[in-house]
Amino acid sequence: MASQTQPLHMLFFPFMAASHMIPMVDMAKLFAARGVKVTILTTPSNAETIKSAIESGHQAIALALIPFPSVAVGLPEGCENLSAVPTIELQNRFCRALATLRQPFDRVLIDLLPDCVVSDSFLPWTYEIAANYNMPRLVFHGTSHFSICISDSFDRHVPVVSLAPDGHECLIAPGLPHRIEMLRSQMPDLTGSGSDLPQLLAEEANLKSYGMVMNSFYEMEPEYVRHFQKVLDRKSWNVGPVSLYNKDTIEMRSRGHTSVVDVNNCLKWLDGKSSGSVVYIAFGTLGEMGMDQVREIALGLEASGRPFIWVVRNVDWLPEDYEDRVGDRGMVIRGWAPQVLILSHQAVGGMVTHCGWNTCLEGVSTGVPMVTWPFFEEHFFNERLIVELLGIGVSLGVKECAIKKERPVVDSAKIERAVNRLMSVGDEAEERRRRARELGEKAKRAIEEGGSSYIDVGNLIAELSCKRRPVHDKIPAVSP
Ligand code: UDP
Repeated sequence: MASQTQPLHMLFFPFMAASHMIPMVDMAKLFAARGVKVTILTTPSNAETIKSAIESGHQAIALALIPFPSVAVGLPEGCENLSAVPTIELQNRFCRALATLRQPFDRVLIDLLPDCVVSDSFLPWTYEIAANYNMPRLVFHGTSHFSICISDSFDRHVPVVSLAPDGHECLIAPGLPHRIEMLRSQMPDLTGSGSDLPQLLAEEANLKSYGMVMNSFYEMEPEYVRHFQKVLDRKSWNVGPVSLYNKDTIEMRSRGHTSVVDVNNCLKWLDGKSSGSVVYIAFGTLGEMGMDQVREIALGLEASGRPFIWVVRNVDWLPEDYEDRVGDRGMVIRGWAPQVLILSHQAVGGMVTHCGWNTCLEGVSTGVPMVTWPFFEEHFFNERLIVELLGIGVSLGVKECAIKKERPVVDSAKIERAVNRLMSVGDEAEERRRRARELGEKAKRAIEEGGSSYIDVGNLIAELSCKRRPVHDKIPAVSP
């Protein structure tokens, strides 16, 4: 029988995409810091990527590995992460490869016999396998209660429809704590992209699971945490913002990937700028852009006259002499940036974001107001939360939810105006900054001892500890 004096053992199994692995590794670190024995399950290439993040932490975390059949499904050898898969066709091969992980996952459960499994919402089949061994499975859903509540409202009710003066159809999500209005063109279309990814989300298994662990904190979306728990009748624990568990420069710089810039140079550059003067512009890991759009951003930033750090992937498309023209006023990062480290610097006073949930939370945690430029999926929901409910954002006014090639180009003048509105000194901008700072303080308090997320983590550990089963109870009887 498992000795109850042994620490609780949690197995974390992240979906292999950067914006899912990063918060789950943070989460694993936070549970380890609370005395839980933690194992992260992943594939060999992904293990190499997260090793430095784990080693930079202050607690021991074990890694368990399962093979990923990249070559067998027609992906390049070692290609084990969705963020490295450029086309829909290759993405679909990646999805096929995931189906082969069931057996190895099963074997890992038998070998390690953890007390519970925390796995990504994109890996719903882990529920059944864990249930075979009487192990509770918790779902990590990389979004907010707010987004899930809106999606649920649109799924379950017929929305109220009206026509805007410009001809756009507006949908009002019924039954929510606030009046949330979306353009039909902003709604995520999970079926039309040709991608098999949405099919991975088998909601039934996620609903049958023990509950959800959310990278969020109560004070950010209290009405929606309550709506989720009371009206949708689902269990959730807020344990975030998880990026805040990276306490020092070493932890922040090791998060995700190795930065392409010399971190010390980056910090020195920021040290030379006055407090709150720098704009940070980045679009996450999936926000590819066309050449025209890259140029418009470059011109918009130049015209704004503000110091900036811009994370850009398609560097060949910068206007000629661009970096000479902006000189020391702008830093262009070509590839992976130490985002949380940059946002945490006092020189950063605003950001332009595609509204990925991790980035939204990282901006909130560091008290930075934002220009919202949503692309697809739940980004438009996140924009509503940031701009309308929390009052810490300036919307760029994007109306279409679309993948790269269908996204209309936003011109430089619009980008310049939004950046200047965000960074200006008027009353409206000051009020936005004050609210962002206040929310940032609440985020930090949430994870400190006695804070709302700290308490939720403790409650979850206590509940799971009570549910622990002796080892022999986890192994199913072999049929004769
Ligand atoms: N990120 C980073 N450096 C980069 C690009 C991304 O650190 O150059 C991190 C960022 O801090 C965030 C995650 O990658 O934690 C991106 O997640 P998000 O949900 O914002 O966007 P997605 O990649 O899903 O579009």
